[in-house]
Amino acid sequence: MKRSVYYIGVRDLIESTLRSGSLDNSFFSPNRAVEGTHYHQKIQMSVGSNYRSEVPLSHRFVLRQHSIDIEMRGKADGVFETDEGAVIDEIKVLFGDARRVSRDTFPNHWHQAMCYAFMWASAEKLQQIAIQLTYYFPDTKRTRRIKDFFTMEELTDFVKPLVERYAERLAFCERWRAQRDASIRELDFPYPSFHKGQKELLDRVFASVRDRRTLFAQAPTGIGKTLATIFPAIRALGEGYGEKVFYLTSKTSTQMVAESTFDLLRERGLKAKITVITAKDKVCFKETALCEPYYCEYADGHFDRVDAAIEALLPEKKINRSLIEDTAREYRVCPYELTLDLALLSDIILCDYNYAFDPRVFLKRFFLSAGDYIFLIDEAHNLVDRARDMFSAEIGLQQVETLCEAFQTADLEVYDATRGVGQRLRERESALEKRTDGPKAQTDLPKELIKDMNTFLKAAEKWLETHYRSPLARPLIDLYFLASAFVKTGESFDEKFRVYDEATPEGFRTKLFCLDPSTLLLEFLKKGRSAVFFSATLLPLDYFVRLFGGDENAERLTIPSPFPSENLCLLVNPGVSTFYRNRSSSYEKIVESIEALARSKKGNFLVFFPSHQYLQQVYESFAIKNPDIDCIAQKSRMRESERQDFIEAFCEDREQTLVGFAVMGGIFGEGIDLRGDRLSGAVIVGIGHPQICLEREIIKEYFAQTLETGYEYAYVYPGMIKVMQAAGRVIRSPEDRGVVLLIDERFRYPSYQSLFPPEWSHARKVSSCSSLSQILKAFWK
Ligand code: SF4
Repeated sequence: MKRSVYYIGVRDLIESTLRSGSLDNSFFSPNRAVEGTHYHQKIQMSVGSNYRSEVPLSHRFVLRQHSIDIEMRGKADGVFETDEGAVIDEIKVLFGDARRVSRDTFPNHWHQAMCYAFMWASAEKLQQIAIQLTYYFPDTKRTRRIKDFFTMEELTDFVKPLVERYAERLAFCERWRAQRDASIRELDFPYPSFHKGQKELLDRVFASVRDRRTLFAQAPTGIGKTLATIFPAIRALGEGYGEKVFYLTSKTSTQMVAESTFDLLRERGLKAKITVITAKDKVCFKETALCEPYYCEYADGHFDRVDAAIEALLPEKKINRSLIEDTAREYRVCPYELTLDLALLSDIILCDYNYAFDPRVFLKRFFLSAGDYIFLIDEAHNLVDRARDMFSAEIGLQQVETLCEAFQTADLEVYDATRGVGQRLRERESALEKRTDGPKAQTDLPKELIKDMNTFLKAAEKWLETHYRSPLARPLIDLYFLASAFVKTGESFDEKFRVYDEATPEGFRTKLFCLDPSTLLLEFLKKGRSAVFFSATLLPLDYFVRLFGGDENAERLTIPSPFPSENLCLLVNPGVSTFYRNRSSSYEKIVESIEALARSKKGNFLVFFPSHQYLQQVYESFAIKNPDIDCIAQKSRMRESERQDFIEAFCEDREQTLVGFAVMGGIFGEGIDLRGDRLSGAVIVGIGHPQICLEREIIKEYFAQTLETGYEYAYVYPGMIKVMQAAGRVIRSPEDRGVVLLIDERFRYPSYQSLFPPEWSHARKVSSCSSLSQILKAFWK
């Protein structure tokens, strides 16, 4: 039987088998060891010439009972010879007081060094070896060395059980993988036939994963795209093309659809472990996610109990939020950290986009280096703006000044550093006020501001080392993370970024704005083997390919709608101008059009507007004029229960007609599924262009210069995607029949009509309410 070889780094081995103690995300606790290659080099260069730095070591263990080999690997910081024999040197850089470090302060440092010592002693056939822990304290420039001797027997007794423990887990995973792959080989497509276009998508997804390619798929509603992407990705896993599937979504509703698709496949025999990652602040048991042992009993001693919690969950196939929460409470561990540990052992991970792409929160367990990962990116049209947000950073003057004031009497160094950042922002603010032509985008990185922020970061770190439990620590940490994101974003800053200053109602801010996320997205995609971007509104496809880092050779797929076109009565009323300046004269005509639709059939209808204000005006006029029709309107902030009530109002057995007023691109503009008589028609008022603002103007200018598509990229395409999403609420199944009425003069412009999806080719123009009523009457007959 072929033996598998696994490789494990020393640090990973220690972390996965010898974890103990508490979670301490304070990041500033005095126990924090910092990565500091330059400090390491400094120490390595300061010792004698017989000191060998960065010595690569390895040792292979043959584990016959598990039929696997494990190769332990690592790099010793230093190896040198003395009269007493060989010494392994392990260098650690720490903040704080050197006197508080004794031999037993950091057992893990010894554990790590013992693994290196074992490898060196085995290779050199030594019976005894010395270990030296070298602690360097950069703030005081002090060095402290602690030395001890170990026999080969002691080292073997320490290392071997760790490897055994690790091997047991690996063997479990191997057995599990064999079962999983066997189940995948047996797994049939769960339905007797495919929807129109579904098989094509499925085959292309499989080929892209197999061939390590990226696919951009415009896949309309009704072809079963969730299954058509998940099924081939799982198939590919079973055939050895990939290690894990990441199903990435931007909304809980799409995540739930994916979850139920996995459930369906499991019912049909699939054996795969699935973990759903819920955001930390949602799953946290405490009021705030302040992950420190003195505040949170789940953080306190978390590592002492987490392995038992993992063991308890290992037999489970689907690990969702409620199961995680129950287990985390039972074992008194942090539910979020438990989820992340379980994700490591899972085949499929369902999570938000930001866990893969956001440089601030991406899953370091997976994406610090590349893996054989398959990315399925659902509702990918949402990733454009999400990616811009994830790759941008900003800093606000008000927050800086509030903190500065708080530190005036607390700490002079932090106060000075914060004041430095505040003054720099003030200078930028007054420069902005002096401009007569308003705020402008700049192409140069604000180096002075970043320099001030670095000074602030250092002062904050130093203070937090000793005061991290002070009430002032939280606001300081908040600003620390903002400043650190700003500085980090500055490192990626290139011609695809702009800097801008802006006076907002919340005060002045400076922002590093990523207007073209293509390069950074591509960097993240390189961490996997294949990616599939898919959505019902990935139109125009070239726009998305360009912004997601594809090129002219990118794999593209456009699938036509599977629904009979005669089931959709698509009407365009171009006789109304919805431009901002013309809105007040449009209300009456829009109300009349809604009336014509709502009175053409007893049913439920949705009307979408480009803004809340516009919605409110028309809603009030309509409701006053039509007391016999039920009306509900989306509010600008709705609680979860209010959203639910809104959706549930669209039931099939209502006594009288219902008209719901909603905003395009909002919570009801996509991701809701009102099949059959739950929704008979939709009116779409206007194009849904994003509001004119500085950022949009910056995007416009940039793409006008680089691609000559400025207005389209900034306004037209994002607006039309909202229109298509809203219209897509009406026909959800082959049996659905319904009406979509587009109201705006621009819908007759060729530049907008060219963006209509192919299934809208039968759109009819209506010029009056009477002709609208006649057409509707004929359609419902
Ligand atoms: S329960 Fe909340 S506060 Fe406690 S460790 Fe987990 S995320 Fe942090």
